Amino acid sequence: MGKSDKIVEKGFAYVRNTKLDYKFGAHVHTEGGIYSSVIHAMNIGANSFALFLKSPRRWVSPALSDEDATKFKEFCKRFKYNPRTDILPHGSYFINLANPDKAKQKQSVDCLIDDLERCEKLDIGLYNFHPGSSLGSDKEEALQSLADNINTAIERTKFVRIVVENMAGHGNLVGSNLDDLSAILGMVKNKDRLGFCIDTCHTFAAGYDIREEEGWNKFWDEFEEKVGLEHLSSLHLNDSKAPLGANRDLHQRIGWGFLGLESFRLLANDERLKGIPLVLEVPNGGDNVVPYGEDIKLLEWLEGKGKEEIVEKSEELQKLGEKERKEQQGKFDKKRSKGRGGSRKRVKPNRADERSE
Ligand SMILES: [Zn+2]
Ligand SMILES: [Zn+2]
Repeated sequence: MGKSDKIVEKGFAYVRNTKLDYKFGAHVHTEGGIYSSVIHAMNIGANSFALFLKSPRRWVSPALSDEDATKFKEFCKRFKYNPRTDILPHGSYFINLANPDKAKQKQSVDCLIDDLERCEKLDIGLYNFHPGSSLGSDKEEALQSLADNINTAIERTKFVRIVVENMAGHGNLVGSNLDDLSAILGMVKNKDRLGFCIDTCHTFAAGYDIREEEGWNKFWDEFEEKVGLEHLSSLHLNDSKAPLGANRDLHQRIGWGFLGLESFRLLANDERLKGIPLVLEVPNGGDNVVPYGEDIKLLEWLEGKGKEEIVEKSEELQKLGEKERKEQQGKFDKKRSKGRGGSRKRVKPNRADERSE
């Protein structure tokens, strides 16, 4: 008996509420086979979920069998997930469509198309990946390469929508501000097949202050103006261990970080975000159930709440993240003081603790 069979047998750890307008979920693992991801999503009470379609750290993976694909689709039907709208696979970390090296670009395109074909075999309608890095080359050219490669991928597949994620702005990453996303959209031919995923941690790390209502609305008004809400396909929900504008991609549990619970209260009451996958990628400490299950319930609890009603909860959660916030604030201040007097050039990341998610 596999792990997922055992879960079904003993009942799910969290009760899923299917009557909600907001599809809160998380990035689930695929232990026990790709179809097991559906069980893992049920187990945390998710109404949407993300997964890896293959190892995200390998260029080539074994093909997806017909049997596994059929079982995945059966499980989606049985547990009422619409694979066209509720599931958002995350692409391989290696993919860099903006790489100035043409041979490496080609390798990335092949890896991307392989992912997209897997999506279509599973009847999945959305696919999320990172826009990549210029690696120090000309940014305009990098964005052009990215868009050209997206065009190729769209031409070579049938229906899956390619969803580009915004980045935290470290190093030479492209796609860390709304102007970049707007430029990509402008260069993609079949715009119906292009969407964007906004990661709350990346947005904040890139310098958008979305902690309070005014800043929150300002960001989304700018998104509407430069990109358009019809291209908003999903959100990644993460609090941030690092302060505003730190350009660090350090996810934190909801309410523990520098973003704070108020930001997520605004999110859980924002009409613009109804019906799309809202996927947690918070640190789970090796436990794939409780942190996700708890944070999904927390986010669902925020719907309909006023600012005053969450004060107590907010303080309670801030305490849990206090130590890590202090640590990161210290690092941030140190870097700032070092950088002072010189240019405000961003420091290239070369940190083992930092991988982009
Ligand atoms: Zn991230
Ligand atoms: Zn990501």
